[in-house]
Amino acid sequence: MRPEKDCQLCSLHVGRTIMVLPCGDPSSKVCFVGEAPGEKEDLSGTPFVGRSGKLLDKMLAEEGVERSSIRITNTVKCRPPGNRDPTQVEMDACRPFLLAELQDCEAVVALGRSACRSLAGLTAPMKEMANKRMSIDVGGREVLLIPTYHPAACIYRKEAREGLRETIRSIRPLV
Ligand code: SF4
Repeated sequence: MRPEKDCQLCSLHVGRTIMVLPCGDPSSKVCFVGEAPGEKEDLSGTPFVGRSGKLLDKMLAEEGVERSSIRITNTVKCRPPGNRDPTQVEMDACRPFLLAELQDCEAVVALGRSACRSLAGLTAPMKEMANKRMSIDVGGREVLLIPTYHPAACIYRKEAREGLRETIRSIRPLV
């Protein structure tokens, strides 16, 4: 199930240029879920192509994981104005599409607090949640969820970089 091209299920449709749908290997068992498209993603229609996407690509490559071998998506498919966080209402509206994208996954990497909130209702500070594995229900199936830092947080914070690096290492055997 994918959103209609002119989906208007939440207010984010107002400012979008291009809806940003998942990229990568659709048969991969591992899906990285970010927060929301930013300016570059909104213009290109591809997730994680801006500054934080480039850092994610670099960290994946350094740990021997090809970006093309995983799936990458976001909690919402349309860019929030001014790059603000997506609201709970917007994430709820888009969640059926997110869950459909995760149907065949074995592991979901939740990048940052919005993804953790959307996927598992988690609201604790990231340093308390990062790399604490849990399971979530995806269409009646138990799927591994790994909360971790968003790459944007890794640009300036060593602790975040180390946390995300640990996550990438831990999912490598599943890729
Ligand atoms: S964010 Fe999701 S629910 Fe909202 S308009 Fe875009 S595709 Fe539809």
